[in-house]
This record gives sequence, structure tokens and C-alpha cells, in this order.
Amino acid sequence: MKTAERLRRIKPSPSTAAAQRVRELKSQGLTILDLTVGEPDFDTSDHVKAAAIKAIEAGETKYTPVNGTSALRAAIVGKLRERHGLEFTDAQITVGGGAKQVIFLALMATLDEGDEVIVPAPYWVSYPDMVRANDGTPVIVDCPEAEGFKLMPERLGAAITEHTRWVVLNTPGNPTGSAYTVAELQALAQVLLAHPHVGVLTDEIYDEIWYGYEDAPSLAAVEPRLADRVFLTNGVSKTYAMTGWRIGYGVGPADLVTAINTLQSQTSSCPSSVSQAAAAAALTGPQDFVRDTVRVYRARRDATVKLVNDVPGLSCTVPDGGFYLLVNCQEAIGKLTPDGHRIENDEDFARHLLDSGQVAVIHGSAYGAPGYFRISFATSTDVLTEACERIATACAALK
Ligand code: PLP
Repeated sequence: MKTAERLRRIKPSPSTAAAQRVRELKSQGLTILDLTVGEPDFDTSDHVKAAAIKAIEAGETKYTPVNGTSALRAAIVGKLRERHGLEFTDAQITVGGGAKQVIFLALMATLDEGDEVIVPAPYWVSYPDMVRANDGTPVIVDCPEAEGFKLMPERLGAAITEHTRWVVLNTPGNPTGSAYTVAELQALAQVLLAHPHVGVLTDEIYDEIWYGYEDAPSLAAVEPRLADRVFLTNGVSKTYAMTGWRIGYGVGPADLVTAINTLQSQTSSCPSSVSQAAAAAALTGPQDFVRDTVRVYRARRDATVKLVNDVPGLSCTVPDGGFYLLVNCQEAIGKLTPDGHRIENDEDFARHLLDSGQVAVIHGSAYGAPGYFRISFATSTDVLTEACERIATACAALK
């Protein structure tokens, strides 16, 4: 079957490709330590499962309104009020099958051919391809490690043109774990205030997997004058270990939300009614799960950062949030493996870790971060410790 031109502009997600490679190697009987996983290794809380079962038994098994059930919308409004002091009306909320779908629809609703979207790199793999799939042009802005992997105001200012429709701000970020402080958001806001045609798509999916003392700040709360052009996206996947339930949401300007809801009405009609009941329970119910899992992530983060930084030739900074480390492997590039292959780039390095150490990681180039690789610490400390030992051995074998 002939496929559309837009398909030639995009590729399958590298994390999906990595997961496939890990499955293949495992099926050959190899013990692969998998550090590619982009989802919590915890199970969804019992009270959330119970809410879903109750919804099924109560007959909540029909289509819901396109913009979600009133219970879920109220739960989203409640979370954003409590966490950031932000107020949203029903007309400003859309829900979808994961934050991924909401972001995709926001781009579909707003981009025409030639429109530009500023994507700070390192970036979540999906942004550039989502932009391309919707006829836009991603404008990748490098944000080096020396700048905390964060978009500096001067770089933002220099990247804006008359064609810029959006800048994407993922905070805390995947794959870096970097998060913008209030002062950094204020500095970016100063630039944005001078360019009223630019919208800001904030992806705050890791906001509660957060290691700071005060809550992770949100641009919409930091600079209310941007309220009419910030589209804030989030979801329950990461915070509540609910990746398979597929519920995400976006809040922002009512005209944008109406456009997204029109697209939603012609695509999936609405997300699963049962998952919406579960998501509402997650957002409004007891939050011990979040506190407990963040405590576990924090211990893993601290242990793994130390193990990685103890490996000669590797280094990483301490992430502010999320469950990933972006590890600098530039010193390994140019070296030879024991069987004489030259490590030309981070992809070769990741392959070397897989072949010689049976440790699966994702190469940084997939995230616009050549010379790096991503480790997910959403796995047990035992696996992380063993994996770091294998990584150290694989690095020591390079000459
Ligand atoms: N945004 C970022 C930065 C992510 O890492 C992910 C998942 O990996 C998502 C969005 C998608 O989340 P959801 O499961 O809500 O679609």
C-alpha cells in the first residue's frame, strides 16, 4: 500500500526499536539488563484499580464527552489549583489518550506548512517527528551540558522567526532530568513577552517525579501574562504508574482547546471511560504512592549517579526530576573495542554496551544529544548496580 508523504518524514520511536532489540536478544537466551524503559516499574495503586472496577460495575462503559468526564475535568482543575494556584474553566481543558496524543493534536490543530516549532535539545524523541508529521519544521536549539541542558533566553531569542508557532518546554525533561527554576522561567518569559505570536507548549509529565524542596514551577503560573498562549500538558502515566491506562490532558486557551476537541471528536471520540475514572481517582485520592515512589527513585538516582561517575571516562549530572540520567560518553568515542571496531559515535558505544555487557541503553543522538546515552532508573537497585558494573567493564575494555 502506498503511504502518505508525511510518513517519509518520520521514523518509529527509538525507544520502541530498543525494546524490540532487547526482546530479540532475550529470546536468544541472553540476560539483558534493560535500562531503556520509559515507564515506572511500579504497579498502579490498588485504590486506582478499584475505582476502575467500580466504574465498570456502575456501567460507566459508554462514550464520554469529548473533553472527558466532569469528574476527571474537576480532578485536573483541582490539581492545577492546588499545585500552581492556576484556575481553568471547562472550556480550557482537553483530555486524550496520553499526553502524547494531546501534544500531537495540539500540533495538528495549529501547524501549517512552513510553521516552525522550537525544540530545545536534548529533547524527548517524539517532538521533532510530531512536528514533521503535522507539516511543521522543527527548529532544534542545542542546549549544552554546560548550560544545564536548558534553553537560555539568548538562544530562544535567536531562534524565533516570524514563522515560529511554538516553543516546547519539557520540564523536568526527558532525557536530561533538568528542570527550569522560577528565575529561568521568568527570563524565558521576558523573551516571549516580546514575541506575542509564539505559543509555549509545556510538557510537565514528570512534574511530580521531582527531587527539589519546592514544587517544580510551571511557566503558566510564573508569568500570568503568557496565560493566553501557554498550553500546559501533563498526564497520569508517570506520576501514578499508569502508562497503559492512556490518560493525558492539556489546559490552555479556549480556542485552541476547542480546535483540539474537534480533532479528538473525529479521531478517538474520547479516551476510555474506565481509564478516566481511574485517572480521576489517582488525581484526587491519597497521594502516598507518589511520595513513596519518589523516595525510591531518589535513592536509585543518588546511587546510580555515583556509580556512573565512578566509571573512568563517563560522567553525568544529577537530575532534578524524572527517572533518567543522561550520561556523557564523549571520552569513549574514537576508541577501539577488543575485537578492533572503532567507536565512532554514541550509537556505536550503546551497541558496544549491549554486545559486550548485555546492558541496553538508548544512544543520545536519538534525543539530539550526540556523545551521550540515556539510562532509565525505573528499575531495581540490583539491576542498576549490576548494569553499572558491566558498563564499567565494557568501558575498561576500550583502548
Ligand atoms: N512527554 C514526555 C517527555 C515523555 O517522556 C512521555 C513518555 O515517555 C510523554 C510525554 C508521554 O506520556 P503519555 O504516556 O501521557 O502519553
